[in-house]
Amino acid sequence: MPGSSCVFLMYHELELAGRKLCQSEPGYVRYILPLESFRQQMAWLKNSGWHALNVTEALNYPNQNCVCLTFDDGCETDLIAAAPLLREFGFRATFYVTAGFLGTPGYLSEEQLRQLDSEGFEIACHSMTHAYLTDVSEAEVRREIVDAKTRIEQILGHAIEHFSCPGGRYDRRTLAMVRQAGFKTLANSDFHANTSATSAYELGRIAILRDLPIAAFEAICNGRGLWKKRYQHRARRGVQRVIGNDAYDRLRNALLGEPPS
Ligand SMILES: [Zn+2]
Repeated sequence: MPGSSCVFLMYHELELAGRKLCQSEPGYVRYILPLESFRQQMAWLKNSGWHALNVTEALNYPNQNCVCLTFDDGCETDLIAAAPLLREFGFRATFYVTAGFLGTPGYLSEEQLRQLDSEGFEIACHSMTHAYLTDVSEAEVRREIVDAKTRIEQILGHAIEHFSCPGGRYDRRTLAMVRQAGFKTLANSDFHANTSATSAYELGRIAILRDLPIAAFEAICNGRGLWKKRYQHRARRGVQRVIGNDAYDRLRNALLGEPPS
């Protein structure tokens, strides 16, 4: 968006023709864009003169039309689908990978992660096992944050600085551990644009959903209408707190029309 604020966009796996997704439940698939939809969004940005930045660059809040592109989970499509398209458009991005998923079917291998890194894309951390960090023990939080950072750094041979929370779930304990581990930022899934006044440990991100019309994408990049989504998001978080994350996920999958897998 214009001026010294920036909307951080959150993507996940991309859908390629003839290729099985990493997961199939509706609560997952709603976050998955077919490659062509993603291309359409990137083409709109490019044709409209926008810049696409990684997290480190976005934190400078340059005075131009820009979005920050982020991808969660570390799916193989980061390298084989997103990266080539981003290179074609001259766009930068940050890939938050789940350390414990590396080398499992559908996700990046260690070698592929090194390749993505060597192509100049920013690699960041999205926990060890994708556990909701509000639901696990102190020892597990340490493993999810500290050990995951170490694992990725060992693979890449350099420090990584940014962390994003699985499912957007975080609390004070999460924040403290992320700081203690030496991460410089924490990204969540809260619906707001970020500015130079936003805490680096409370970076909002807007999840781009599968069926988002291009006009709605443009509105998001411009930071329009985010307050409406913010209220919906807060209401969801309230339900999650009352009934618990597991029950919430089962309920969401039931409401979306399929039993949880
Ligand atoms: Zn995730």
